[in-house]
Amino acid sequence: MNTHIDLHSHTYYSDGELSPYDLMSYAKQKGITTLALTDHDTLAGLPEAQQAAEELGIELIPGVEISTSWQNKTIHIVGLNVDVNCTLLQQGLSKLLAVRVERAQAIAEQLTKLGIPDTYEGARRLAKFDNISRNHFASYLQQQGHVKDFSQAFKKYLSSGQPAAVSVDWISIAEAVHWITAANGVAVIAHPTRYKLSRGKVVELVKEFKQAGGHALEVITSSTQPDEIQWTTRLCGDFDLFASAGSDYHGPTTWANIGNLKPIPSVLQPIWSQWSKVAA
Ligand code: AMP
Ligand code: MN
Ligand code: MN
Ligand code: MN
Repeated sequence: MNTHIDLHSHTYYSDGELSPYDLMSYAKQKGITTLALTDHDTLAGLPEAQQAAEELGIELIPGVEISTSWQNKTIHIVGLNVDVNCTLLQQGLSKLLAVRVERAQAIAEQLTKLGIPDTYEGARRLAKFDNISRNHFASYLQQQGHVKDFSQAFKKYLSSGQPAAVSVDWISIAEAVHWITAANGVAVIAHPTRYKLSRGKVVELVKEFKQAGGHALEVITSSTQPDEIQWTTRLCGDFDLFASAGSDYHGPTTWANIGNLKPIPSVLQPIWSQWSKVAA
């Protein structure tokens, strides 16, 4: 039972709600002994998280969740145990943040056309660190009363196919894997069953990821159902991949929580089994 290890979480350095200190402190309170901070497209929260980890006596795995594009879909690749000083990774991520700013401006233009003005400034204010996410637009639309709740903002405006959706060319999966391995980390396909892809397409995705040098699938998340675990377990076996587990916690008012993860099936090799510092 390795349910005290959580390898996917966010702070307000991307689209989470908490500071790194508050995240680490909450994780400790929930019985987590090893937590990976994996903010979207940035390493900016990791120094504070490391300081908090030392103060609180909890282990931090430095990570990042990289936005990639594959067959016109956004696929998230988590990098774990990365060297935060790797220049290739740092420079690559700064390009993705620039893409985020451009995309945010385009989303705001769409919303203006739909009669909702000033959303760039609104989302930017909520973002704190220039790492503008669709979550910040959703929060702003909710605050201003344009939607009844957060998820309606996605359904009505921001999700793919909706009128304020802006499709972006992030980077390829191979490039993300390259940045992560250059930083001595391991690459994980985040929440492989959450993309709107057929099972056949997911197999294709996993195959390409493996060929690019990817290491693991996130078999366990807050929302995975037993049949999904069974399926991704089979994929790990078929493609000789490690398994990861992470809550994808974004903060106290969001859908996922820390501390409720199911164990990784015993037939699989957990990704942390190769890290001597993690006592599983
Ligand atoms: P972005 O990386 O800016 O495109 O935003 C993606 C983030 O928005 C994800 O990491 C989730 O946190 C959140 N998200 C995406 N789709 C939804 C949805 N339908 N409902 C709520 N949150 C969502
Ligand atoms: Mn997110
Ligand atoms: Mn994700
Ligand atoms: Mn995430």
